[in-house]
Amino acid sequence: MHIITTSTERVGSTLAAEISKNPPSKNPSTSEATKTDWQESLKRAVRSPAELCRMLKLPPRCEAGAARATGQFPLFVPREYIARMKPGDPDDPLLRQVLPLDAETLDLPGFGTDPVGESGAKVTAGLLQKYEGRALLITTGACAVHCRYCFRRHFPYGETPPRTRAWSEAIEAIAADSSIHEVILSGGDPLTLPDEQLAPLAARLAQIPHVRRLRVHTRLPIMIPQRVNQKLLEWLCGTRLTSVVVIHANHVAEIDQAVAHSLKELVDAGLVVLNQSVLLRGVNDSVEALVQLCESLADLRVMPYYLHQLDRVAGAAHFEVPVEKGVQLVQQLRARLPGYCVPRYVQEVPGEPNKVVLA
Ligand SMILES: *Cc1c(COP(=O)(O)O)cnc(C)c1O
Ligand code: SF4
Repeated sequence: MHIITTSTERVGSTLAAEISKNPPSKNPSTSEATKTDWQESLKRAVRSPAELCRMLKLPPRCEAGAARATGQFPLFVPREYIARMKPGDPDDPLLRQVLPLDAETLDLPGFGTDPVGESGAKVTAGLLQKYEGRALLITTGACAVHCRYCFRRHFPYGETPPRTRAWSEAIEAIAADSSIHEVILSGGDPLTLPDEQLAPLAARLAQIPHVRRLRVHTRLPIMIPQRVNQKLLEWLCGTRLTSVVVIHANHVAEIDQAVAHSLKELVDAGLVVLNQSVLLRGVNDSVEALVQLCESLADLRVMPYYLHQLDRVAGAAHFEVPVEKGVQLVQQLRARLPGYCVPRYVQEVPGEPNKVVLA
């Protein structure tokens, strides 16, 4: 895995000292018991732009801009992820995904709060069905990171009823519709919930005869790799359902040794593991960035699935890459890599029966 950098290689001394107070599990052979508890990592995540800027030794203008732009969607980033950022570089591709910028405050035509028409796809509170055969369960509003480009930054999570009631209603609706063959656990990020809640949910879904597959969309294995633990693997692999895990990495620098180890654990456990990325200006909008990401994922037996065109969510316009440029990038990618390493470049278009394939 030549492209994978260890976190220490990318970490400045102050940051390294900061992190060594509570080190992420860097050693692939670290036993279960000595791994930093993932829930602790969530609690210890950085929420203050000033703290993040100080840790990374960024110029004062970054801090001021971030404070102005934080708005309704506060900064939230785990220390494990910060450790992979390059100190002193305001353009670091990982930092760009999490640091609020002044550009977010611009109100631009065409960028709204429900860009993918989800409010029209609701079956019950917390259950969305847009596509045939698949239902998407919003398990929680919480995430392990706040991605500045996320279309869920305006999602009215507060309107969903308490979890247990919403889940019961959703499970009833799934049981009543025999066309649903796959249930997608999404959010937010479902893996921010404890396995003690997720295992019974998976068990209830497995009791519905027409449900065949369970898909989990999560950024946790990237953000806090020690989230991939024995308890998680037990309910994911121990079910009658075929489990599919879709992770979300946008840049090769997100994949350090601990992440690579966790991905290996998922694949070795027999799970199908796919990756989706969002095409983001200043993060991965170059052939080189995409080649490195896709090839490193394939080395780890994680198949590049989708490259998403940015949803036009208010506050994220500065991340947009024109579709024509995206198409060119994917064509160049196709000329460079084996076919199975090239993700489908897709766009979410309200009212379409599937995600629209752009290239
Ligand atoms: C993206 C999405 C899916 C899954 O689509 P696939 O093309 O099967 O990956 C399902 N439901 C909703 C609401 C979605 O947005
Ligand atoms: S839903 Fe996914 S992309 Fe959006 S903020 Fe959460 S982790 Fe990031």
